[in-house]
Amino acid sequence: SQVYLNGAFMAPQDAHISPLDRGFLFADGIYEVIPAYNGVLFRFEEHLVRLERSLAETAIANPHSRDQWRQLCEQLIQRNGGGNLSIYLQVTRGATEKRDHAFPNPPVPPTVFMMTGNIAVPAADSPDTATGSKAITLDDIRWARCDIKSVSLLPNSLLRQQAVAAGASEAILLRDGFVTEGSASNVFIVAESTVITPPKSHAILGGITRDLVVELCHRHHIPVEEREITESQLRQADEIWVTSSTREIVPIIQLNNSAVGIGTPGPVWKTVARHYVSFKRRLCGL
Ligand code: PLP
Repeated sequence: SQVYLNGAFMAPQDAHISPLDRGFLFADGIYEVIPAYNGVLFRFEEHLVRLERSLAETAIANPHSRDQWRQLCEQLIQRNGGGNLSIYLQVTRGATEKRDHAFPNPPVPPTVFMMTGNIAVPAADSPDTATGSKAITLDDIRWARCDIKSVSLLPNSLLRQQAVAAGASEAILLRDGFVTEGSASNVFIVAESTVITPPKSHAILGGITRDLVVELCHRHHIPVEEREITESQLRQADEIWVTSSTREIVPIIQLNNSAVGIGTPGPVWKTVARHYVSFKRRLCGL
């Protein structure tokens, strides 16, 4: 396989960065994960807009134009054989000479790293045979700017590990009694035949998959609302889903060891999963 680092493609074992990189010292960087199906980048514009926003919010210089980003991503996919892959893309504030919390002055060039990963066949691809996943609820211990896709993922990592240790695949996070999101996903519930997801704010990442699910609900006249979800609404929901670019829409069938609804992937999930998959197939020529 091939990765990209600061202007060149290379084997992963040849990619080296300085331990004085601010990404290493301070987790001072941002990232994106962009899926490609059949070699075609999925929702690329939307991911680029979020990348630009993360860079602007952290005052890291954007080293590339949109056309350059697209070319780099397409080359990386080609060099890794095309097909279904995800691109992991990270930009840090760069390598400095001394450890200082304040930004280097004058600025140093940002470090740009990209690699590909495999995409597992998502549950949404086969709604009728999907079995669903388990989740637990945990206190959202993260900072107050979760809208920035920052590489500072220690809390997310600790939370996900707690979920895994409990035999679950995701932690659904609660802040002041309200659902924020998952440790690496956005959260949806279905209550009274309405799809509900928390509104975008500084407390959650504006997920690309989340936005597409909301868009598809509108397009297909499925009632959908962006509003706060309380802990008790979560516990009483007929359906719970978590969404992310690499796992698409995952039905949660058990929350804290209690069945969600009747304990199987729900009918609204099946409908939305079908719309999601046909949208993806049309767009990517699958
Ligand atoms: N929320 C968090 C904290 C995430 O890390 C992710 C993605 O991994 C998401 C939400 C989902 O975002 P997207 O659908 O853009 O992948």
